[in-house]
Amino acid sequence: MADYDYDLFTIGAGSGGVRASRVAAAHGAKVAVAEEYRVGGTCVIRGCVPKKMLVYGAHFAEDVQDARNFGWTMETCRFDWKVLRDNVLKDVDRLNGLYTQTLENHGVEIIPQRATVSGPNEVTLGDGRKVTARHILIAVGARPLIPECKGHELGITSNEVFHLDELPRRILIAGGGYIANEFAGIFNEFGTHVTIINRSDTLLRGYDQSLRDRLLQISVMKGIDFRFNASFRGIEKTEDGCLRVSMTNHDDLEVDCVLFATGRIPNTEGLGLEAAGVTLGERGAIAVDDYGTTNVPSIHAVGDVTDRVQLTPVAIREGQAFADTLFGDKPTKVSHDCIPSAVFSHPPIAAVGLTESEARNKFGTIKIYQSDFRPMKNVLAGRNERSLYKMVCNAADGRILGIHMIGPDSPEIMQAAAVAVKVGLTKDDFDATVAIHPTMAEELVLLK
Ligand code: NDP
Repeated sequence: MADYDYDLFTIGAGSGGVRASRVAAAHGAKVAVAEEYRVGGTCVIRGCVPKKMLVYGAHFAEDVQDARNFGWTMETCRFDWKVLRDNVLKDVDRLNGLYTQTLENHGVEIIPQRATVSGPNEVTLGDGRKVTARHILIAVGARPLIPECKGHELGITSNEVFHLDELPRRILIAGGGYIANEFAGIFNEFGTHVTIINRSDTLLRGYDQSLRDRLLQISVMKGIDFRFNASFRGIEKTEDGCLRVSMTNHDDLEVDCVLFATGRIPNTEGLGLEAAGVTLGERGAIAVDDYGTTNVPSIHAVGDVTDRVQLTPVAIREGQAFADTLFGDKPTKVSHDCIPSAVFSHPPIAAVGLTESEARNKFGTIKIYQSDFRPMKNVLAGRNERSLYKMVCNAADGRILGIHMIGPDSPEIMQAAAVAVKVGLTKDDFDATVAIHPTMAEELVLLK
């Protein structure tokens, strides 16, 4: 057998790369991981984790308002963006340290440099050094896609949004997906005027229509503006430092900040993959088999760079399965079926399984059970926001095909419900379970 510097060389220390590297090392492999930015990747450094902290921070705006009907008076109430921003960034530093420590504790060598593939078993580091590895894992994730338009460089992406010097008075968010809706909620709660601009008239494509409609209705009620079927023509800076945005089908708009949230594409540009013979698919995604292996047997990929399901827990599963398969003598495939997901909008959405229309297309006859209710806390608070829970079942045997929820804490509630859907429980199984009263979650076992 050829002699290599490493058993595994991972490029990218995000969720998938860190999990794969440390598990491979725990199985006895000699592992190095190269990271050009910060250990932790998108999720920890500029994604899920800091975003969720901002969601918490933003939600206090409603809590403070709602508290009045619960007897609380707050004389002076002021939000300081810089305090929240700095505390969030401090926590990101802490997590970055923990992820680094985890790798070090497992004996993984961290190489803080960009690395590119220069052969089936060779990697070239930023400093010009070449190293060899029996296996190379590409876990470089994805990067924000910015639509081509004049002045696009005047906008920011989710990479920069956590570092804003000031809270903008008016923000335009381009896109209608996860990031757009999450940051629309965040900025709106902070008092920024938010306009979402989307190229189609569809928000959150892939989620159940009833939930999308409910989110749109509540978002409009909260004061978020929407412009649909609009494509960017250009952005220009005005004399007073504002940004004037022109678009198709709508009037120009003047704002202080433009945030592009128009999808993320695999980060494969300039990685040397084509030269090494690796097949890339649409949008530069790395094509892999069920075990994360490319058409070059020694080169593998996990996570967003494969452009299958761009979610952190999926990348982690793929990293674990890859390491168990190759170094743990335990071939493992990752099931991409029935993956629960959430949008941390205000209020949040959570879903698992098939939407109503997907189920109808696949099974023909289905049964829908629904609860459209105003949570008790909202009633007393005088907050006119209704939650919606929906269960999609196969009419033939009552099996649950999907659950969809919008309302406070729905992602927290969904995690347990997703287990039931994954193992194939029926509506009768839910009905046979006694409710926990009074909760919002009890609606799941009382659906009509
Ligand atoms: P999404 O894929 O969710 O949404 C992209 C949006 O941008 C869509 O509304 C899409 O319109 C629009 N769009 C796509 N391409 C263009 C273009 N060229 N010009 C103009 N508009 C365009 O992407 P996000 O950026 O919001 O998030 C990226 C990924 O990150 C998500 O897919 C998700 O997997 C992950 N993520 C997950 C989160 C979570 O789990 N809570 C949170 C944040 C991100 P249309 O639908 O009409 O095509």
